[in-house]
Amino acid sequence: MSLPVVAIVGRPNVGKSTLFNRIAGERIAIVEDKPGITRDRIYSRAEWNGRAFHLIDTGGLEFEEKDEVLEHIRHQAELAIEEADVILFAVDGRVGVTATDEEVARLLRRSGKPVVLAVNKLDHFKHQDQAYEFYQLGFEEVVAVSSLHGIGTGDLLDAVVSRFPEREEEEYDKDTIRVAIIGRPNVGKSSLVNRILGEERVIVSPVAGTTRDAVDTPFTYEEQDYVIIDTAGMRKRGKVYESTEKYSVLRAVRAIERSDVVIVVLDGSEGVTEQDKRVAGIAHEAGRGAVLVVNKWDAVEKDHQTMQRFTRTIREEFAFMDYAPILFISAKTGQRVTRVLPAVKEAADQHAMRIPTAVLNQVLRDAAMSTPPSTVHGRRARIQYGTQVSVKPPVFVLFVNDPELVHFSYIRYLENQLREAFGFVGTPIRILLRKKK
Ligand code: GDP
Ligand code: GDP
Repeated sequence: MSLPVVAIVGRPNVGKSTLFNRIAGERIAIVEDKPGITRDRIYSRAEWNGRAFHLIDTGGLEFEEKDEVLEHIRHQAELAIEEADVILFAVDGRVGVTATDEEVARLLRRSGKPVVLAVNKLDHFKHQDQAYEFYQLGFEEVVAVSSLHGIGTGDLLDAVVSRFPEREEEEYDKDTIRVAIIGRPNVGKSSLVNRILGEERVIVSPVAGTTRDAVDTPFTYEEQDYVIIDTAGMRKRGKVYESTEKYSVLRAVRAIERSDVVIVVLDGSEGVTEQDKRVAGIAHEAGRGAVLVVNKWDAVEKDHQTMQRFTRTIREEFAFMDYAPILFISAKTGQRVTRVLPAVKEAADQHAMRIPTAVLNQVLRDAAMSTPPSTVHGRRARIQYGTQVSVKPPVFVLFVNDPELVHFSYIRYLENQLREAFGFVGTPIRILLRKKK
């Protein structure tokens, strides 16, 4: 199920990042479930009335330094138009309509994308009339808000959610493995795609893309259908923001959202960067299968311990993704590239794996027997039974006498036990607790 993308645009200082934090705030606190995931102030998952979505603050993007303000927010708007389903256009209600607001409004109107106008900094009810003048920008949805005090943001989000597109039809057969290849600019994503598609037994389908504008590349390998998501976008070159790192995060969100398995490409000659962890973190939170690929291995000066050392570093830096296999490859020479698709296939299979309830409960019982939950104020959690409620990724619900008694480290323990028993290589799994009535 693909989540909509909401992008915030607007002049500097109108309160975009305040609004971003207001909308994403609670979520950011909740999702700190695994160590090592890097948060940043430009991307978050968010939720309103049970509808989850991706939120992006384009104001936090840096483009070229010489950019003038107007140029800068033109780029923001361009990006939002390209990547977002709904655009949250923020203006300063105290300052009134400025020439820059008008310019941005023109761009946004021309795009035909749904726009919700947030007239910010109206902290008091008596100031709300000041929102009216913004109707001249030509948008139907104009909402007075105070991001600072959280006033009106509910109405704002109602308006945003009401503009979400209808759920899209499944684009591909459910047995087709949808693969997103993500990573910073220049790590070798395009080179890897070309290598894979050039492999002898890979048969690229003649008709590229179905419902979307031919950005995907379907192919078959060993009787398995695959599609590489968003290849055209990935190959697109020359735009000013294409080389900026944070942009690659934004670009990756939608590709991750449409995929089953994500190949996270790292540059072996440069090591791990914060940006690498950000995109990997998004894939993890989205519950996608993952394969970590260290590219440019040909360009790394090596001794017999280099691969081990690198593996250790990756395990530390990507601790939240300890389930992902790691491959050391060279898209340039072709070294080990033939292992990529089999790793993707395995991750996809495990991502879709269903464990029979009886077997699951045997493992849970054994786990509780060998290490019972510790007592809290003299009371001990009892896991009555568990069941797998969904796949892609696998989600387990465990019924417990009192979920409050279960420490997160115990859930981690159970996850490890499930992995030991069933593998789940290349896929995150989720464990939820419910109170047994
Ligand atoms: P950005 O540059 O658009 O991301 O703007 P910021 O979120 O950094 O906010 C710019 C300034 O406006 C900060 O000093 C904020 O505290 C302030 N601000 C943001 N939202 C509000 C609001 O709703 N009311 C008031 N009074 N100030 C706000
Ligand atoms: P993308 O921006 O992630 O799609 O990266 P590209 O595929 O365009 O590659 C960026 C640069 O890295 C190009 O100059 C490639 O020739 C080079 N490159 C890609 N893969 C490898 C590799 O395995 N080894 C070496 N040495 N260079 C590579």
